[in-house]
Parts: sequence; C-alpha cells; structure tokens
Amino acid sequence: MGITVRKDGSVHVRAPFWLSSSEVIRMVSSKAAWIQARQKALEKEPVLPSGKTELNRLRKEAMLKFLDIAAPWVEQFKKKYGVEPKKWTVRTMNTRWGSCSSATGRITLNTKLYYKPDECVEYVIVHELCHLIHPDHGKGFYALLEKELPEWKRRRKQLKA
Ligand SMILES: [Zn+2]
Repeated sequence: MGITVRKDGSVHVRAPFWLSSSEVIRMVSSKAAWIQARQKALEKEPVLPSGKTELNRLRKEAMLKFLDIAAPWVEQFKKKYGVEPKKWTVRTMNTRWGSCSSATGRITLNTKLYYKPDECVEYVIVHELCHLIHPDHGKGFYALLEKELPEWKRRRKQLKA
C-alpha cells in the first residue's frame, strides 16, 4: 500500500483491490502522524502565484521590500569599501536565495524571500554585498561577513527552517 501527500495537502492512497476498506482505513490511520507532519511541512512552503500578472506584481512588491532593507547596507558598503551593486534583480530560483556577479555588479534575489522574516532577507543581502568584494566563499569572504553581520549563522539557520 502506498500513501502520498500531494502539494495541495491532499492525501492519496494506493491499495490492492483485495484489501477491505476497513483495513485501508486502519492502515491510513496508523500513518496519521506522518501524514500530518507532511502536511505541516507543505504549509510552511510558500506557494507563489501561478498567474503571470500576479507573479509580476509579487516580484515588484518584493523588490520594493528588498531595496528598503538593503538601502542602509548599500550606503555602508559604498562608504566603507567603495563598492556598490549596479543592478538588482528579483526572480524565482529553486536552489538558492541569492546570487551576485562581482563582474557585472548584479545582485539577484529569490522571489520566495518575500515570505521570509526581514532579518533573513537582510542576511542574504549582506551576504551578496560581501560578494562584491570577495566573489568566492573563501576566508576573506567569511571574515567580512562575520564583521558586518556577526550573527549571520543564526539568520542562515532561520532561513533554512
Ligand atoms: Zn555566496
């Protein structure tokens, strides 16, 4: 017998035809804790709007929010290190929260960050700003990140939760 919880939270059960329905119910009940845990995990995952207009509106809104959080940091990096991002992009990415091209000065942030707490957004922004100076994740990069945002590890953990 196979039980799956789909993206919309619905539960699907595959059982051989000879299994009585009371047996199926009994087996599904025995998996109740697992099913609920799966559904809870899915609820946490933000669902982006599927329509193009809706998605574009969200991206614009996200951009405003991100730039607002970034503003004091951009100012600080400019003053302290003489670097500044040339372009900001917000787009949906599946494997990372942000990226930075030190060659073009473009910082890209994941649309999904919109649903995360501000301090997590701030962590990603500072992380990407550090890449303007140190393109890779070398010692220099982490020293700078640590200096600018001493509790970055806690925020990264929160972002993963
Ligand atoms: Zn990085």
